[in-house]
Amino acid sequence: MNFHIITIFPKVFDSYLQESIIGRAIKDKKISVQFYNPMGFCEPKKRVDNRPYGGGPGMVLRPELFLKAFSKIKIKDRKKAKIILFSPSGKKFDTAYAKKIVKQKYTDIILISGRYEGIDARVKKVLRAIGYMINDLSIGDYVLTGGELPAMVLIDCISRQISGVLGKYESLEEERISSSEVYTRPEILKWKNKSYKVPKVLLSGNHKKINEWKKRI
Ligand code: SAH
Repeated sequence: MNFHIITIFPKVFDSYLQESIIGRAIKDKKISVQFYNPMGFCEPKKRVDNRPYGGGPGMVLRPELFLKAFSKIKIKDRKKAKIILFSPSGKKFDTAYAKKIVKQKYTDIILISGRYEGIDARVKKVLRAIGYMINDLSIGDYVLTGGELPAMVLIDCISRQISGVLGKYESLEEERISSSEVYTRPEILKWKNKSYKVPKVLLSGNHKKINEWKKRI
């Protein structure tokens, strides 16, 4: 799966995408992440944003620059491409959405991250008019300063649904009962004169009981 991110702040992605499971997924070519910066299309001495029509505080990102950045993306098959625009008032992103994206075998996911008051609404209108599927997504009921964290959240959550990405930790989601309380060695943790034990049931080897316990927690 190829992720294409349109952002005026590509550097903020660097460390997150290099580490751990996502870093390995990129190295192993299970996913790829490419950046397209509208700033690169900005005329000398001009700004990437401008004042909003109708007034109000905050600036709006200029549509032409985002469309020019978009036109640099190489997409083989439009039917297998999905555009995601981030907005705090969009449909709430969840794991079910991530699973659907993987199941429907999209090859190119285009993530468009806004800043300030957002991106001129005509970007969405143009992309829809030329035949792309577009979703407005929110990652939660709070307002962030930009769509970069939401883009990282999506890449992370979608990638771990791709076969092979979780590697040896992988287990079919259907078969797996995950628990919010997890334990590892030592069996008894001694900390400042107190002992903290691993729940007995987890040491029992009785998988039926262990699963019941996991569901209860
Ligand atoms: N004026 C906008 C808010 C802009 S926030 C409004 O009222 O809807 C600036 C940018 O941050 C947005 O364009 C979006 O890309 C991103 N953003 C902020 N909060 C977000 C959230 N909860 N989910 C997804 N994207 C968000």
